[in-house]
Amino acid sequence: MSNESPTPRYLCQRCGNCCRWPGDVRITDEEVACIAAHLGLSEAEFTAQYTRLNANRTGLSIIDRPGGAGECVFLEGLNVCRIQAVKPVQCRGFPNEWRFPGWRDVCEAIEAS
Ligand code: SF4
Ligand code: SF4
Repeated sequence: MSNESPTPRYLCQRCGNCCRWPGDVRITDEEVACIAAHLGLSEAEFTAQYTRLNANRTGLSIIDRPGGAGECVFLEGLNVCRIQAVKPVQCRGFPNEWRFPGWRDVCEAIEAS
């Protein structure tokens, strides 16, 4: 029998903080197609308007809001994602699928009871 505690599940409180952190919001080719269709754009239009090479130049990331303070271009107000229905796996996976050191200082998710 193991004495290890199970990894807790975290429930997002929709504070929007993870949409304001600097860094890459990576998107796959399939996500490009899906988000472009959601926005009524061709994949070429979407890629040109809303993506850039990610930091290590191995794929695409969503751009920050032009003139903003590092927030994602699809963040509206404090916590509304304009592409919520089709947001990338990276966005869906935090903080249960991936985390980084110090994440607890900025993420308001609570542990599921
Ligand atoms: S795509 Fe949506 S959920 Fe992901 S960082 Fe941008 S605003 Fe946030
Ligand atoms: S920072 Fe945490 S609680 Fe806030 S929206 Fe992102 S995942 Fe949810």
